[in-house]
Amino acid sequence: MTYSTPQNPAIRPQSTKVGKVWLVGAGPGDPDLLTVKALRVIQQADLILFDNLVSQDIRALFPHAVPAFYVGKRKDDHSIAQQDLNALLLKKANQGLSVVRIKGGDPFVFGRGGEELMALIQAGVDAEVVPGITSASGCTTAAGIPLTHRGVAQGCTFVTAHGETELHLDWHSLAHIGHTLVFYMGVSRAHVIVKNLIGNGLAANTPAAIIENGCRPDQREIIGHLGELSQMVEKNKVQSPALIIVGEVVNLSSQLRAVPQMDMLNKSCA
Ligand code: SAH
Repeated sequence: MTYSTPQNPAIRPQSTKVGKVWLVGAGPGDPDLLTVKALRVIQQADLILFDNLVSQDIRALFPHAVPAFYVGKRKDDHSIAQQDLNALLLKKANQGLSVVRIKGGDPFVFGRGGEELMALIQAGVDAEVVPGITSASGCTTAAGIPLTHRGVAQGCTFVTAHGETELHLDWHSLAHIGHTLVFYMGVSRAHVIVKNLIGNGLAANTPAAIIENGCRPDQREIIGHLGELSQMVEKNKVQSPALIIVGEVVNLSSQLRAVPQMDMLNKSCA
């Protein structure tokens, strides 16, 4: 795939420009999964602020002449406080810049995009969200796990396993809803997921998968059962980012994974 040459911001007049903040979803990691709009917005940026879930392959698409800064948050390691980041976005937009704040997946799915947009709207700044493919969707599909499947799962539920202070999940409902359950930020919380789901009646032999670095060259899938989820994390030394999927749809991956996706893509592009 070829991408058009980025514009050079140095030759664009900025003094009369009205600034704008773009909250852009980068998807799970594969640059081919960026939306056309996301790429277009990146290419017209004056300033790019990215977080740790924006993959190296996507960072490589940032125009070289445009300053790009890491403003990410890893567990217990926040490069910039949320309110300082909001203030920075505001300041740069008021200087007339087109600021691209790019986040992994979709900005509105466990991405604090809503908080950032709210602060900008309250401050009267022109701001727009560009949706991205959320990791639950991109990574499961890439692993041959359909989130819903006729006769197997009539719905899916996205859950965070990591609360800012405490988790307030209705574990009884989650254990009985019959949906595919996708846990974000669950790697260090596998034991909590297992204890609560089994404790509320979900069978220990319910199929479960872990997808690490989904939609990236080093994607790993670990398939097993809910009851052994913690051991799957430990034994395989699973690292973030990873998703935990619980539900019968996991069993379909052995059939749907049969044709490697990259081969299909290469053939269709040939
Ligand atoms: N806004 C993002 C989610 C941010 S929360 C989205 O829509 O996807 C961060 C969590 O997302 C990670 O802890 C992990 O559970 C999940 N995640 C994001 N990218 C991932 C990837 N490429 N592979 C596996 N999990 C991923």
